[in-house]
Amino acid sequence: MAAEKQPARKKIESTGQMMKIMSEYFYDLNDAAAASDRKVAWCTSVGPAELLRAMGFAVHFPENHAAMLGATRMATELIPEANTIGYSPDICSYLTADIGAHLKGISPLARAYPGIEAPPRPDVLVYNTNQCRDVQDWFSWYAREFDVPCIGITSPKNFTDVSEILVDDVTRQIEALIPTLEEVSGQSLDMARLRETVALSRECTELWRQVLETAMAVPAPLTFFDGTIHMGPAVVLRGTRQAVDYYRQLLAELQQRIADGSGAVDDEQYRIYWEGMPVWGRLRQHSELFARLNVSVLVSTYCSSWIFPDFDPEEPIRSMARAYLGLFIVRSDAYKEQYIKQMLEKFRIDGIIYHDAKTCPCNSNSRYGMPQRLERETGIPSLVISGDLNDLRCVSDEQTVTNVEAFIEQLEERKDHA
Ligand code: SF4
Repeated sequence: MAAEKQPARKKIESTGQMMKIMSEYFYDLNDAAAASDRKVAWCTSVGPAELLRAMGFAVHFPENHAAMLGATRMATELIPEANTIGYSPDICSYLTADIGAHLKGISPLARAYPGIEAPPRPDVLVYNTNQCRDVQDWFSWYAREFDVPCIGITSPKNFTDVSEILVDDVTRQIEALIPTLEEVSGQSLDMARLRETVALSRECTELWRQVLETAMAVPAPLTFFDGTIHMGPAVVLRGTRQAVDYYRQLLAELQQRIADGSGAVDDEQYRIYWEGMPVWGRLRQHSELFARLNVSVLVSTYCSSWIFPDFDPEEPIRSMARAYLGLFIVRSDAYKEQYIKQMLEKFRIDGIIYHDAKTCPCNSNSRYGMPQRLERETGIPSLVISGDLNDLRCVSDEQTVTNVEAFIEQLEERKDHA
């Protein structure tokens, strides 16, 4: 029997540096929780992290912790723990896995970082519902559990244009958070420090955009699967110098790959857009599956969601409002389709894969006719795969492989007939 072709994927050398700064970040959070003179805020991944950082909080992102539960395949067994206290298996599996982990006293941080037992105890929880309502429910549960304040922004949704009325609304909501945060932190907001933090977030976001845009090159020097790992600093360390320095290093490495004509996947034949969440517990399998087929899944809405071109240190709070309203997930299908169309062109895409994540309807854009509309308008074929971000009971590995292989054959036939 002929040996199956081994997938060829290339290691990103900067990964070691990323792991170092992520480790420093987690140990700092752990120290902050233990120190009497420091305060910890929990923040949603696209919440007002800049404000929290500028007010001296150490900032923990439960979604990052939940993604770690997924990537380490701990999530599926923990979800039923949250189900038993009334949180349905049909709602966000980040929420159910994270609350389940807390109830069981388990954390992937303890495995990865000796000396850390659990996420840091919060002094305040701050959410933004721009992504979904689940984050508010999630944070409210912890507020009751720890008996600490839970405050946030209730974001408008499903709009096409970011109007000044919407920006006014969210600006006022961010401003309204400040008195509680000042009370918890014991310090007044220093506008100079906020400007500096927003400037660093702006720089981080710009570098992250450049990193992702290296995939415009043929062959692409990085894949979506690389992106899901390397976006860590853009999520948890934006607003810091460490994130900026890291993305400079990563960008230089990827630019060198382009100069060398070195693709992330050997002999790249097809270029795919990934729409939706990753399946965290299957990152490696999916990455190898596509590499084996000489397919580069090279761009995604998900990784691009941490590009915020609107941050402006001259107008820190208003520009934060504008940035967090500009997010893809908050917008109407009309906007989303325009956005995806220009990405397809920019990255020279041959096909789209939609991940219909069972427990995240907000990040599953295949349910209201979008694949059909986009296919009609662009002629670019698409495939919908059913799965989930964290709950592996919703994932069928055999079906994914069969469907992806058939889809790539379809792309091959199109190429042959072109
Ligand atoms: S956007 Fe989806 S994955 Fe993220 S918190 Fe909301 S429901 Fe969960």
